[in-house]
Amino acid sequence: MVTLELKDLHFSYNGIKALAGVNLSMRGGDLVGLVGPNGSGKSTLLKNLDRIIVPKKGKVLLDGKDLSSMKRREIARRIGYVPQSSVNLFSKTVFDTVLMGRIPHGSWAPTRSDLRKVSDIIVEFGLQDLSGRGLNSLSGGEKQKVIIARAVAQEPEIVLLDEPTSSLDLANQIDVMELIKTQTEKGILAVMAVHDLNLALRYCDRFVLLKAGKVVANGDSDALSRTVLEDVYEIKAKVLGNGKEKVFVPLSRR
Ligand code: ADP
Repeated sequence: MVTLELKDLHFSYNGIKALAGVNLSMRGGDLVGLVGPNGSGKSTLLKNLDRIIVPKKGKVLLDGKDLSSMKRREIARRIGYVPQSSVNLFSKTVFDTVLMGRIPHGSWAPTRSDLRKVSDIIVEFGLQDLSGRGLNSLSGGEKQKVIIARAVAQEPEIVLLDEPTSSLDLANQIDVMELIKTQTEKGILAVMAVHDLNLALRYCDRFVLLKAGKVVANGDSDALSRTVLEDVYEIKAKVLGNGKEKVFVPLSRR
């Protein structure tokens, strides 16, 4: 199983500190929910993990190897990244969009095996009826599934997702979480920034709670206790249920 380690990771944007010494260790098979208030560093962390941006200090180790020593193509083969809003970027069909995921594996022309893999993923994601449609003609939920299918077509060991459910209705949120869960059950490590704590609690195996660029809780759902969450989100709340059925109910600002 793949391992991903973060050692004393620091990042700042023109002097504005976004990550302040993050240490984490994650492994294949886990769906890790990256949670925390707006501006806590979730997107910045994901971008450091795909080397879209480079840590100012510290390092990211993929199976023990420093990400900064790896070629872009190798990273693209091993890590899939689903950004927060990539959906209006292209006017390609669903099939061609998912096929783009095969680029890090081949030359300019897709092989028969690439086409077969893409067809299989399109079926796995329930997109077969949309295969010839232009991406721009799809609903938000459909587009999001296509973008995740493209990342899965890369056959990555790790998939990073930045709030993949944020603009989706409840049924599509469940579909997307189930599709991601299916990938982690195959051994992929999924690291997902997620706003909706209750959705995260329902599906994630592990949680990393960030505040002001620091990890303030890391572990299973017990790590997300009422007091920790009240403190981080600066609200009053109550918690109902346990484990996968734990629900966090915000009540008021503190
Ligand atoms: P989150 O994803 O948790 O909302 P971000 O990683 O987007 O948090 O942001 C972390 C911090 O970095 C915030 O203070 C934010 O204002 C700052 N930040 C993010 N992106 C930029 C940028 N491109 N330029 C300057 N500051 C940024």
